[in-house]
Amino acid sequence: MSTLVMKFGGTSMAGIERIRAVAQRVARARAEGHAVAVVVSAMAGETDRLVGLCREASPLAEPAEYDVVVSSGEQVTTGLLAIALNAMGVPARSFLGWQLPIRTSDTHGTARIRAIGTDALRHAMASGTVAVVPGFQGVTAEGRVTTLGRGGSDTSAVALAAALRAQRCDIYTDVEGVFTTDPRIVPRARRLARITYEEMLELASVGAKVLQTRSVELAMKERVPVRVLSSFTDGPGTLVTGEDEIVEQELIAGVAYDRNEAKVTVVGVPDRPGVVAAIFAPLAEAHINVDMIVQNVAHDRPITDVTFTVPRTELARARTALEAHQAAIGFERLLTDEKVVKVSVVGVGMRSHSGVAVTMFRALAERGINIQAITTSEIRISVLIAEEYLELAVRVLHSAYGLDAPQ
Ligand code: ADP
Ligand code: ASP
Ligand code: MG
Repeated sequence: MSTLVMKFGGTSMAGIERIRAVAQRVARARAEGHAVAVVVSAMAGETDRLVGLCREASPLAEPAEYDVVVSSGEQVTTGLLAIALNAMGVPARSFLGWQLPIRTSDTHGTARIRAIGTDALRHAMASGTVAVVPGFQGVTAEGRVTTLGRGGSDTSAVALAAALRAQRCDIYTDVEGVFTTDPRIVPRARRLARITYEEMLELASVGAKVLQTRSVELAMKERVPVRVLSSFTDGPGTLVTGEDEIVEQELIAGVAYDRNEAKVTVVGVPDRPGVVAAIFAPLAEAHINVDMIVQNVAHDRPITDVTFTVPRTELARARTALEAHQAAIGFERLLTDEKVVKVSVVGVGMRSHSGVAVTMFRALAERGINIQAITTSEIRISVLIAEEYLELAVRVLHSAYGLDAPQ
């Protein structure tokens, strides 16, 4: 019998009616002869609400207790889906993270899955029972509850599919698949029939939140075929798969954006070896990820400026870390800007085609959009621009690379 992991996101689980619709989809898959494990998210908005309660209780909430609170949304939907399935005559039962167990690291709030115990699941599924498992949660070796970071249920689902050696991991969400860009911003975005793991990984890591980055990393490593599809309509969705299985490769797979960006300019630093290291050491110590970096060239004076981006949510901490080392680094002052966004184009076709970057820069220039920083990888180009131009830039780039659906 083939094993299928089906994951349902928050919008799909928002309310009893929708949970019943999910139960029907699961029942269909089981009737088709699959052994089914289902991974569920909390109801839409619930995790945000729980995070808010923790902050209200204390801005310094202990991460381990935060995890106890925010993981509870998934416990509720897990139980409710099992109830809905049983009520329909489909045998089902819940298996919470600590019961399986889903073993993780002890980095509360962003824990990584180490191993999943599947004996109880396999036993239940072999007798035709649907196993319902909460996404987003796990347990440390010491038995404390953890969560995997926002959007982490995708990773739970792929990890479970890998552990069960499932034929496929189907991710049901509120759009019909992976699109050439966020369909909520560009109505002419097109659904991709297939996308490579590599492209999906780059798109996710630069902001396309349709799949959590780590879920794609894991799927690529474990070679789990992932399908993204809608829980509200029937359609083929998008298959995330290896490059060798894609016959006709497009130059650009998609355009993504990230609002969680802030720009820091360290003004007036001595232009000599060791200064850049002195700036980034305190940030690394504070576990703050630095992304785009630009160092201006000093022509006539022995001092220069260094500009870089950090996640907007980390800006205050970055400022504190740098200010604590002002004397040692020797800078004059810090300038920060939170009204910036990163827009990226991604495609494996970039490896073999030139002119991809100039198309991007020209399209933005024609609309008067100034580029404040640039980074690239082998298959991606990202630019930092003012936030007010976000939607315009995404639309313009989508057209410039010929991605618009025909009208
Ligand atoms: P879920 O709750 O099911 O996990 P998410 O909100 O995490 O759903 O992810 C789905 C959302 O991702 C869509 O509603 C869409 O707005 C957004 N999105 C961003 N980029 C893309 C893209 N390239 N293709 C599809 N959806 C995208
Ligand atoms: N409920 C969690 C979140 O909102 C995990 C998920 O839905 O993937 O981040
Ligand atoms: Mg999600």
